[in-house]
Amino acid sequence: MHKSVLVILLLGSLISYPAAADANRELHERIMVLDSHLDTPVKLIDPDFDIMQRYNVIEDNSQVDFPRMQEGGLDGGFWVIFSRQGPINQKAFQTVRDIAVMRALAVHKMVAAYPDVFELATTAADGPRIHAAGKRIVYLSIENAYPLGEDLSLIKTFYDLGVRMLGPVHFANNQFGDSATDLGGQKWQGLSPLGIELVKEANRLGMILDGSHAHDDLVRQMMELSATPIVLSHSGANSIYNHARNVPDDILLKLAETGGVIQMNAFGGYLTKLPENPRRTDALNALRAKSNAVTKMTDAIAAELDAERREIDRKFPRQLASFQSYIDHFLYVLKLIGPDHVGVSGDFDGGGGVAEFNDIAAMPHLTERLIKEGYSESDLAKIWGGNLIRLLQAAEEHAAK
Ligand SMILES: [Zn+2]
Repeated sequence: MHKSVLVILLLGSLISYPAAADANRELHERIMVLDSHLDTPVKLIDPDFDIMQRYNVIEDNSQVDFPRMQEGGLDGGFWVIFSRQGPINQKAFQTVRDIAVMRALAVHKMVAAYPDVFELATTAADGPRIHAAGKRIVYLSIENAYPLGEDLSLIKTFYDLGVRMLGPVHFANNQFGDSATDLGGQKWQGLSPLGIELVKEANRLGMILDGSHAHDDLVRQMMELSATPIVLSHSGANSIYNHARNVPDDILLKLAETGGVIQMNAFGGYLTKLPENPRRTDALNALRAKSNAVTKMTDAIAAELDAERREIDRKFPRQLASFQSYIDHFLYVLKLIGPDHVGVSGDFDGGGGVAEFNDIAAMPHLTERLIKEGYSESDLAKIWGGNLIRLLQAAEEHAAK
């Protein structure tokens, strides 16, 4: 072979990789990229947190901020109003209701503070429109309907605050139904009578119902009962790793049959068996005991506990699952039910993240990998946001009838 031909061939192979990477990145920028479960509102209520500042997941566990939305080409998503499950009584309902309202208002405050950067989205048309305008999309969702208490008129109150996705339960059973992870087992065999009314009211208003964290029986009942397709906003495949937070194939198939979507969850402990670090477990248990012993929490004590938590993370780092373990769930579900029924959630700022996909800056890795697996731009547009928009549109159209 002539020397110059060899040089050209070598150059060609050197150039082709970055060219492909550029093309992948351009595709990623072109399509609307949404994450269905951003747990960041819990950070927004902290006066020291500034969404416009770039944080670092290794140093402070933070996984979402505006500079990294730009780096990772994340156009927005559903920003979560999360409530920890507590006791079932009127006093507790009132306290947690007020906290949930404050979290919704914190998101509104963020949007109001940076109107050129963020925009609140409340309709299916809003997402693509805001994306085209070059701003970040802020849909709101509720994870755990517990703060609604037994007052279903509050669903409309949160709807008016912009909430368009509603998940009945979290880690434990509540007044609306059974959780996938309640240590005491099932209480309602799925939805409670109040839970059935919650589904009907969400349908009436035009909200997407979310079956993540719910017991499989609740998810099956909700797919039957809901007038519009449901979402699993951050869940995985039980056939890949047997865990209560993952769903079996019959639910995945029924989800596809009813037009629903599962958003693949990058939460390490649900993806695979992670090696234990007893020293980290001991340190976290000791910190939890210390926190539980505090009778009156002040900002100073909270800051001290926070610093201790960071120190534990520094000394005994959190074990991360591999990116491949996330991809294993992703590809399994894609092959089973197809790209019309699959989407993305990192569960970022909520305990999610795996190696090489540990904050929103890493979103392009997933696009690259799915392109490598043969998925097209139209598949990716659906996976990264189109499917979610379709669900919201179905919810809206039903409510308009
Ligand atoms: Zn969750």
